[in-house]
Amino acid sequence: MGFLFWKKKNKDAEPAESEAKALPVEAPAPPRYFEEAPAPPRVVESVAVVEVLPEPEPVVEAAPEAVVEVEREPEPEPEPEPEPEPEPEREPEREPEREPEPEPEPEPEPEPEPEPEPEPEPEPVVEVGPEPVVEVEREPEPEPEPEPVVEVAPEPVVEVEREPEPEPQPEPEPEPEPELVPVELPKRSFIKGIKSLFTRVKFDPANLDDLEDVLIQADFGLDASEKIVQAVKERAKKTGATTEEQLKSILAEIITEHLERDDKGLALDTGKLPYVVLVVGVNGVGKTTTIGKLAKWLRESDSDVVIAAADTFRAAAVDQLATWADRAGARMVRPKTDGQDPASVAFEATEIAVRERADVLFIDTAGRLQNKVDLMNELEKIRRVVEKQATIAEVLLVIDATTGQNGLAQAKAFAEVAKVTGVALTKLDGTAKGGIVYSIQTQLGIPVKLVGVGEGISDFAFFDAAEFAKGLVS
Ligand code: GDP
Ligand code: GDP
Ligand code: MG
Repeated sequence: MGFLFWKKKNKDAEPAESEAKALPVEAPAPPRYFEEAPAPPRVVESVAVVEVLPEPEPVVEAAPEAVVEVEREPEPEPEPEPEPEPEPEREPEREPEREPEPEPEPEPEPEPEPEPEPEPEPEPVVEVGPEPVVEVEREPEPEPEPEPVVEVAPEPVVEVEREPEPEPQPEPEPEPEPELVPVELPKRSFIKGIKSLFTRVKFDPANLDDLEDVLIQADFGLDASEKIVQAVKERAKKTGATTEEQLKSILAEIITEHLERDDKGLALDTGKLPYVVLVVGVNGVGKTTTIGKLAKWLRESDSDVVIAAADTFRAAAVDQLATWADRAGARMVRPKTDGQDPASVAFEATEIAVRERADVLFIDTAGRLQNKVDLMNELEKIRRVVEKQATIAEVLLVIDATTGQNGLAQAKAFAEVAKVTGVALTKLDGTAKGGIVYSIQTQLGIPVKLVGVGEGISDFAFFDAAEFAKGLVS
């Protein structure tokens, strides 16, 4: 499924206006389905406009943004400080922008603008909350627009306005938060990686009792298996379903109902950048691989991603992560020496992510579990040093689906010490024990947020109960 999250608008626009905070409030993940990666960029532009509109300045920006995004990478550095002094005559490209600057300076306006912003922001966001309705958000746009227009007569100078901002920024907010825009990220393959429950035992429409064994073998657990079969029978009776196709469709519906949760979206919508994602789990479950996949996915939306190699226990682990970071085009912060304190790597990475205004910071950790106290201490220490500078958005517990109940037991131990907020269930491509999702969610009380369905960089998806159930029943 497509996934919506809030990222920094772009470096050029850094003069983050207070708006940033408000926008993000609620961006429930899912709604739109993009088949191809190319989609996201468009959404960004249009949606961004919407969000920005509510505030006076943003509107103007809306039009030019598309351009800004494109230029983004190359220019980020030059803008901020260097411009003020030498610029005016320098480069022809910037002239347009600078000329206007001298004028804007005398105008203390920049201040008045920022003030009004904070107020309007919070509310619009809230309303927009129901993102699935991304399109709905656009509709409201027309209203906010009129206002900005009035105030900002010289619209053509949209770009110019942004630059002058850098000056006023330092005064009000030494560390202004970047302006945020919602970004629709590309869909990843999912169903094709899910093994059917009926590969070994055929589905028998005439004998639904056999279904219970199939579900138990798939790790749904006794209780759930019994309940699911009971529900299928009842619904079949009510609807008069008798064919294999009809019954399978009912089974998929019921499994979906058992797996559906409303907290399955990654928490990348709070607006508190960088989003720090701490990734934990025992060795070999797929932590490093999952980080690589997610980093690549985020990079496709042009997000700035930093990865901390806090699994400093083995040098090979750092190199493996570096390979993934390279593939994803993300920046990695590695230990300076073998075995360096993982917390100090996490601290440095957080420092860099905050300073460079990265959108997301992944922290890869070691999976030692021999000693629960050590593990707890290490994770606590990492958490403590990260929280000196940022907020941990997610603690993702990675679980290998092929380890079944054993993996679940390990997961419980982690969940107890790491304040886990979501599960990444890997290697679903290698097992028909999809019922483990149900067991994890009910026994750990934690939502499965994403699943790994292969070793490739694109082989994962955000968990969607209906898609998953369809794959299991196919
Ligand atoms: P870590 O020790 O938790 O960091 O685990 P790694 O990321 O190093 O992964 C361990 C192994 O599992 C590697 O060989 C990965 O290629 C493999 N792996 C990870 N995720 C998946 C998945 O979703 N499907 C399959 N088939 N293999 C996976
Ligand atoms: P420790 O228990 O004495 O190692 O210290 P902490 O638990 O506070 O921090 C763990 C590691 O994170 C330290 O060794 C530092 O490398 C790093 N760290 C934590 N806080 C700070 C800080 O405020 N400044 C700097 N430069 N590094 C810090
Ligand atoms: Mg690893």
